[in-house]
Amino acid sequence: MTIVVKLGTSLIVGPGGRVRRIVLRERAREVAAIVRGGESVCIVTSGAIGLGLARLGLERRPKEVPRLQAASALGQSRLQQAWDAAFAPHRVPAGQVLLTAIDVSDRAAYLHARNAFTALFRYGAVPIVNENDATATDEITFGDNDALAAQVAVLVQARLLILLTEVDGVYTRAPGTPGAELLSEGDLAGQAVLGEGSKLGTGGMGSKIVAAQMAASAGIPTVIAGGHGKDVLAPILAGEPRGTRFRADDSGVPAFKLWLRFGKPAAGRLTVDAGARRALVEGGASLLAVGVVSVDGRFEAGDAVELVGPDGAVFAKGIAGADAKEIASRQRGLEAVHRDRLVLLS
Ligand code: GLU
Repeated sequence: MTIVVKLGTSLIVGPGGRVRRIVLRERAREVAAIVRGGESVCIVTSGAIGLGLARLGLERRPKEVPRLQAASALGQSRLQQAWDAAFAPHRVPAGQVLLTAIDVSDRAAYLHARNAFTALFRYGAVPIVNENDATATDEITFGDNDALAAQVAVLVQARLLILLTEVDGVYTRAPGTPGAELLSEGDLAGQAVLGEGSKLGTGGMGSKIVAAQMAASAGIPTVIAGGHGKDVLAPILAGEPRGTRFRADDSGVPAFKLWLRFGKPAAGRLTVDAGARRALVEGGASLLAVGVVSVDGRFEAGDAVELVGPDGAVFAKGIAGADAKEIASRQRGLEAVHRDRLVLLS
């Protein structure tokens, strides 16, 4: 079984833009012990941009994408070196895997990425994953490393996702304010979004809860916990009360449908009539073009589209069987989305 552990920028990058080597050393020691125990671990690490900013002499994160790309290129090499050094004493090899959103949006590429992880695990290696920020832009990005970690957890079919951060978990109100209490169990439906992103990273508690939600619907539980100190992962795996735990949904969702839901971005929207919605949700039918009342976006056959009911709510996502123009023609007998290439969202 596999565990995905994500560390945020504030855990990795210390004052003056230096690597917090002690954090990396402690986590590498724990990860090596887990690997020796027979499980696989994948680390998702932030910090490339944070470390790169220091090399550029910048204190704050710039807004311009090219400057962020440059910072990440300069920081990523340092980041990987630091993880290599942290794992070296344990004789566990750490391999760098840089993903872009495109790597998971295409089904074949998604399977190639999965094969790469599987091969690394077979060698007893620990993949050190980050987004390939040097080529990512606003349009093609996972959003943040919390989302990336959840995607990776789905990709490697992890049994647990652990999001490590500066704070000890999810609090009832902003940590440090009077009356703030740590929640041991997270409630995905009613969770208040607490805390802003830090100065160098992008995440914040909100994006961690979204990541937990994504993992939960793929049948993967999540723990959000503090990443400092000697024993962090071992107590979490032993089930001791640490951080905030989010339960997984009972999921028998096939891998293809998880990819469709989380990996592949939607290129358009089809609004369908009440009869078509019922046939899809209750009858497990395919969507015919005659049931589509409006088409938004310019997409080709093979792109993903969201399906919207007459109430305006998105209820499914599927792979378009024809392009936007053809579907808008509402030609009789034309299949807009085949039922095997469709995932219902709730
Ligand atoms: N991939 C970014 C980095 O390594 C971090 C993104 C995030 O903060 O979530 O710097």
